[in-house]
Amino acid sequence: MPDACCSSERLFLNSMLMKIPRGNLHEIEEPLFFRETLFDIGIHNLGDGHTPVETEIVVHSRGEDFFLDGQVRTTLTLACDRCLVEGIYPLEGKLRVWLVSMVRPDLETDEDHVMVLAAQQLEVDLTEVVAESVYLELPQKTLCREDCKGLCPSCGTNLNQEQCGCETGEIDERWSALLQIKQKLENE
Ligand SMILES: [Zn+2]
Ligand SMILES: [Zn+2]
Repeated sequence: MPDACCSSERLFLNSMLMKIPRGNLHEIEEPLFFRETLFDIGIHNLGDGHTPVETEIVVHSRGEDFFLDGQVRTTLTLACDRCLVEGIYPLEGKLRVWLVSMVRPDLETDEDHVMVLAAQQLEVDLTEVVAESVYLELPQKTLCREDCKGLCPSCGTNLNQEQCGCETGEIDERWSALLQIKQKLENE
């Protein structure tokens, strides 16, 4: 995971979870950065919970409202659909959130979230939105490699690693082990 903390210009807001304090809601040139873990944003089933989730958000003000335009980056541990071996997969998602002072049906789109910012609200919690961006980018299909040979349907051998011989003998390895014992007993 590349370290993103190299620029002193960058404003890190970690240890606050994915929350933007109200005071940071204004048009800015430099993006806001968050670095949390998969576990912190409530994702427990897609790999090591300590894996960082980095979010970069640019705040735009639009009259009374704000538009947050961001990117979410992390790496997930996913099992290959064919051979079930786990691998590390980089993931990058988009985050687009409208913060509005009152409900605005005209802003409802498929892509953008709309959150109402109450007058007395001190911060905006983006934890769920960030987690959702991760889930939205989950691959339809996970393959460790394009030509993954998968598992043998009869004995379960990972065919990327070894040949099991099931195609010819059509005997499950468990049966062949039993057969060997039987033969051994018969020979004694
Ligand atoms: Zn595979
Ligand atoms: Zn086999």
